[in-house]
Amino acid sequence: MHRTRLYIDGMFTAPEGEQYFPAINPATEGTFAEVAAGQAVDIDRAVRAARRAFDAGEWPGLNGGARAGILRRIAEGIRARLKEIALLEVRDNGKPVPEAEWDVADAAFCFDYYADLAEEHAARPRETVDVGDARFQATISREPLGVIGAITPWNFPLLMAVWKVAPALAAGCTVVLKPSELCSLSCEVLAEIIHAAGVPAGVFNLVTGTGPEAGQPLADHPLVDKVAFTGSVATGRKVMQAASAGIRTVSLELGGKSPFLVFDDCDIDKAVEWILFGIFWNKGEVCSATSRVLVQRGIFDRLLERLRIATETIEIGSGEASGVKLGPLVSKGQYDKVRDAIEAGKRSGARLVTGGDRPEGFDHGYFLRPTIFADAPTHSAIWQEEIFGPVVCINAFDTEQEALDLANDSKYGLAAAVMSDDLDRCERVAARLRAGIVWINCSQPTFTQVPWGGYKMSGIGRELGRAGFDACCETKQITRFDHRERWGWYLDAPE
Ligand code: NAD
Repeated sequence: MHRTRLYIDGMFTAPEGEQYFPAINPATEGTFAEVAAGQAVDIDRAVRAARRAFDAGEWPGLNGGARAGILRRIAEGIRARLKEIALLEVRDNGKPVPEAEWDVADAAFCFDYYADLAEEHAARPRETVDVGDARFQATISREPLGVIGAITPWNFPLLMAVWKVAPALAAGCTVVLKPSELCSLSCEVLAEIIHAAGVPAGVFNLVTGTGPEAGQPLADHPLVDKVAFTGSVATGRKVMQAASAGIRTVSLELGGKSPFLVFDDCDIDKAVEWILFGIFWNKGEVCSATSRVLVQRGIFDRLLERLRIATETIEIGSGEASGVKLGPLVSKGQYDKVRDAIEAGKRSGARLVTGGDRPEGFDHGYFLRPTIFADAPTHSAIWQEEIFGPVVCINAFDTEQEALDLANDSKYGLAAAVMSDDLDRCERVAARLRAGIVWINCSQPTFTQVPWGGYKMSGIGRELGRAGFDACCETKQITRFDHRERWGWYLDAPE
């Protein structure tokens, strides 16, 4: 059975503690690999290697064009192993093969995109600023931020790591990556590809392990300049607390309970399709899943009935089987959590329209029928709390203002969607939704070129796009005084 390795200072290595935990296939509940259980001592070695590599100045000082060439080799390396990596994602996470292949292709593109930005950045001169005093010249430059500790979740195991690693390497930072203990395997392949692409030793390091044993020591480490975290609010809070001790920068990509507003002038079939994609793609294990759907009352019953029928025909099965659109949930823990949320939803008075239980013919694996609740009380947990599974709540509204009030009544603000044939209305509503991502007439399509991140408790900072590159930079002003002039404050001061 394959045993994964850590990657520290340019070398693949066993964890010092020689401990491993099982990688479990959620479709079979069988162990298919053993994952290296890195601990504080491994994190410390990795962070010190990243620190040395940064402070030596070779990587941050490398011309952006040269870094871009290496990043493009990484992109090619990912494409060359796309099917192999996708299959690992399927076995680790449960998602269907076409979804996994899509994720891996996106990860490759992300390296190409940030290669372009690295080149562009290198070609851009320092920005000159007029400070209103001719004796002074001020310029602004963006410099690599330093050592980045990247802590990532299990829902898009490779892609979430790449969203952090690609811009960090492009900007000239060095990285220690700690992926989720539930899905670590594709990140080992990423380390192999990065190694083969010629990234110098210490610039990228991988330490797998659990949150408390490897994640927390990374968040605590005083030699880390920034912790870039994606995961739950509860862990994000711990990461932020740890960063406060050393006044380190953090970026937090956290959870959501994103609303989808459907107005009665839209095509019901199109709405049904996007509602399905918004919540059942990737099993609803998507931070931006539109899990609260608000439908204008005039079309509510018709839409709900079509949605129920379409939901009941979704093909459930192992992600490896062809035609499957809904794989098993990632783990026993996540399965139990989602089923508990469903039971609480039933007790809260929400109406269970379909799903909520194990599909027939599946006696093992973490399979769950896609689930719809209607008329959930808006104060209930099923309406307010993130479930992170294939569970959607559908409620009715009458007016645009009511829909907006219900949509914005959330502690989260990651994403939102609006569907209407009236584009003026869509724009008006989009402007008033308190969310970092708003989709009009669709839900979930995500592009590397545009910034990603949330309002309110959905996080701090932005990834992707230029914002993702800038988030890996420090900003420096250099202010120069004309040396021919005298300052004349203490010496030769005017009478
Ligand atoms: P999680 O918070 O349990 O774990 C995330 C990562 O943090 C894992 O690598 C874990 O090992 C690590 N970790 C756990 N305890 C830690 C600690 N004390 N210190 C440091 N690291 C620690 O989250 P999860 O279950 O892996 O992911 C699901 C969550 O992620 C959901 O809430 C989802 O909405 C969110 N998410 C957000 C985005 C986004 O872009 N906003 C994307 C994907 C997932």
